[in-house]
Amino acid sequence: MAVPKKKISSSRAGNRRSHNALTPPALSLCSNCQELRPPHQVCPHCGWYKGREIVAAKE
Ligand SMILES: [Zn+2]
Repeated sequence: MAVPKKKISSSRAGNRRSHNALTPPALSLCSNCQELRPPHQVCPHCGWYKGREIVAAKE
């Protein structure tokens, strides 16, 4: 089994993980029901997109 020659210091591990942050999902307000929805997608709450109903809202 391959074994690391030197222990990675906590400082160096932190430096490596400095690029690992997750970005929050982009969300915008629905113009019909004011719920948060992903941009450029049909609203998952009311099924509206661009001012009209595309998909029937599921109950
Ligand atoms: Zn909506």
